[in-house]
Amino acid sequence: MTHVIAVANQKGGVGKTTTSINLAASLAATKRRVLLVDLDAQGNATMGVGVDKTSVQLTARDVLLEQTPPASAIQYLPELGISLMPANGDMTEAEIKLRDVAAGDFALKSALAEVAGQFDYIILDCPPALSKLTVNALVSADGVLIPMQCEYYALEGLTALVDTVQKIKRVINPKLEIDGLLRTMFDPRNNLANDVSAQLTEHFPDKVYRTIIPRNVRLAEAPSHGLPVMMYDPQSTGAKAYLALAGEMLRRHDGGQMRLNA
Ligand code: ADP
Ligand code: MG
Repeated sequence: MTHVIAVANQKGGVGKTTTSINLAASLAATKRRVLLVDLDAQGNATMGVGVDKTSVQLTARDVLLEQTPPASAIQYLPELGISLMPANGDMTEAEIKLRDVAAGDFALKSALAEVAGQFDYIILDCPPALSKLTVNALVSADGVLIPMQCEYYALEGLTALVDTVQKIKRVINPKLEIDGLLRTMFDPRNNLANDVSAQLTEHFPDKVYRTIIPRNVRLAEAPSHGLPVMMYDPQSTGAKAYLALAGEMLRRHDGGQMRLNA
């Protein structure tokens, strides 16, 4: 069974791409077959796994707009053990043109259906907006992983995102669930971060991953080397945290523990 996970939050800089790359690599390290799909025109996930976004021939844009078979745009990265559907600035065109297509919300879902059987996990790195591309991701997904920084405005944006998830679940994709809320860039010495974290677990008791991603400079450095942190610095707290997150996710999905309702 394939699990499609949308890593989404309309705020920028909360750790979506960092989570997508490092969760993908950590799942692959546990022998899962993983596809990472870059849906952001910034192409940060693409660059972060060592692929030059300016020289890729076929991208997610071609799959979404031109009916390019997804297999032609997907490349296997042998050193990392994951597959990538890359993106670059051309995604801006996809965002705009999908608005005019009748089935524009389903473009990604139909494309992924062609390759889903080849993967255990498909991780969708969403752009920082509740845009057409994010809707495509939510329509395709089984679960949403929401990275959040525990800061003052974190909960405000969460409401809009949870509303969107619930609407898409009701209208289009009944299997969609919030897989979990992930606390990222966490600094336990910061009182506000601890307060917001406590509020999160109080409001969403079964939706907050137990794994916390600490603020760790190795996580910020790794993308400039085109590597997941577990390959850049396997002993770092960041590498250990993302491995723990993969373990927690696998126990949840395979171990018959609670499935969380959106
Ligand atoms: P998003 O995709 O949500 O915009 P990113 O994953 O690109 O967010 O993260 C934003 C910035 O914060 C990047 O420079 C990234 O390297 C850095 N970053 C992300 N997570 C961490 C972390 N746990 N510790 C330190 N820096 C981080
Ligand atoms: Mg990003």
